[in-house]
Amino acid sequence: MPASSHSDSAELVVVGAGFSGTLTVVNLLRHAPPTGLRLSLVERRSRLGRGLAYHTWDDNLLLNVPAGNMSALPDDPGHFVAYLRNIDPAFNAGSFVSRRIYGDYLEHSLAQAQQASSAVLQRISGEVNAVRPDPRGPSAYVVEFVDGRRLHADQVILALGHFPPRNPPPHSDFFASDAYIADPWNFAAIDRMDSGRPIAILGAGHTAVDALFRLTSHSDARKVYLISRRGLLTHGHRFTPKAPTSGGGIPEYLSGLPNTILAYLRAIRRETRRKLKDGDDWRDVINELRPHTQGIWQRLPVHERSKFLRRVAPYWDIHRHRFAPAAFLRLEHMRLSGQVEVIAGQVRAFEQRGPETVVSIKQRHDGALRELSVGTVVNCTGPNYDIATLAIPLIVQLRDAGLIRQDPLKLGLEVNERYQLLGRDGSAARGLFYIGPMLKARYWEAIAVPELRAHALRLALQILAPSLAE
Ligand SMILES: Cc1cc2nc3c(=O)[nH]c(=O)nc-3n(C[C@H](O)[C@H](O)[C@H](O)COP(=O)(O)OP(=O)(O)OC[C@H]3O[C@@H](n4cnc5c(N)ncnc54)[C@H](O)[C@@H]3O)c2cc1C
Repeated sequence: MPASSHSDSAELVVVGAGFSGTLTVVNLLRHAPPTGLRLSLVERRSRLGRGLAYHTWDDNLLLNVPAGNMSALPDDPGHFVAYLRNIDPAFNAGSFVSRRIYGDYLEHSLAQAQQASSAVLQRISGEVNAVRPDPRGPSAYVVEFVDGRRLHADQVILALGHFPPRNPPPHSDFFASDAYIADPWNFAAIDRMDSGRPIAILGAGHTAVDALFRLTSHSDARKVYLISRRGLLTHGHRFTPKAPTSGGGIPEYLSGLPNTILAYLRAIRRETRRKLKDGDDWRDVINELRPHTQGIWQRLPVHERSKFLRRVAPYWDIHRHRFAPAAFLRLEHMRLSGQVEVIAGQVRAFEQRGPETVVSIKQRHDGALRELSVGTVVNCTGPNYDIATLAIPLIVQLRDAGLIRQDPLKLGLEVNERYQLLGRDGSAARGLFYIGPMLKARYWEAIAVPELRAHALRLALQILAPSLAE
């Protein structure tokens, strides 16, 4: 589409071509009726299919899920491993390959689906800053671009992905300085960091470890502090992961429990102890649970979900979202050598003293104040899904127009079972859908490929045949 202010039209526009948007389009292409369908896929990055997670060229950044569970197509579980075997027959379902290869795979899957489909796909490069209902126009919505282009659409799917973290408390003028990197995914800024001084990373999860690996990829010399409230570190996968359990009902030991976090927690602990006694691995308990966590989350009342977020989620996350074995060993090596120090505590102040930044931390174990002198601070405290605080133009416009609304726990956006966005008044917007990590509000487990691929297929099917999808 040319960069002018003229209007174009499509039946369906998907905004965002990361994993979620691309896979929704792949499924629409695969299942489109022979009469054809006109789709537009809009992306502001140079390449489609990669999004935040898979646009990297750095092969040191590995998938944290074994290849056997990374097929993009729920109805073709061997799809990714078959793709890998074309590259090298030695790859297998237990391989942990790079995220760059996975990005190649997603691009390939889109091209393959487009070639085989009767639907017409238009790939559009650009950034959308508004989606407005257009009751008097030729279609239901007008999609507006930053550069003034407009696109009419009967239906719009928002697949906008992750938003950078909020600045952590306490508020500080320091956040305006060059010694602070607010966006942890800005690898160009990380690469430019002063190499001599220690670095403080706020957070200790996957984003923090990505930043750590990135900034130590050129030089091993500098000291890095990983600072988080509890100082927990994510566990690693086994070198020979078991194939994921598929199908089957909820495990026997969980059926009939009261809908409380405590009841689930006790049952899971008991089951873990039993497994360990039999010489099995705790990871199998978590793996077995995975297909059922969405259902459990939906059954929990809001106050129990809130209890989970406050007390259990940090522990759940480090057991559930594990590192690839090689990434885990790399981190362990850095920690044991003293290059990386994990600090449990709360940041109380940031202060610039000449070329140094002093980060004051109240330590969790003894309450004492510790001062760290560092060159740079990187904010890796996790994506911000609190739409009330986001200053992203498209989100602000949708929020102000009352087309989207936040869930009570501020995990994401409210949608109904058809992925239609709920507006300010709680009613579902016709033809306006959402897919991506903010489905967490409804499903909790919605940020990784094994869940998002299922959502992408369901969303595509229900758009093609609304009455058949449920
Ligand atoms: C660093 C990282 C590593 C991960 N590793 C794994 C893993 O190993 N295994 C696993 O199962 N899961 C992993 N995940 C989780 C999962 O795969 C991602 O969360 C998933 O990629 C989400 O895809 P998405 O399309 O919803 O979001 P994104 O990937 O963020 O894509 C959103 C896209 O929308 C575009 N966009 C946003 N707004 C606009 C706009 N206004 N106009 C135009 N374009 C726009 C963005 O440029 C982006 O390309 C990882 C996630 C991250 C962040």
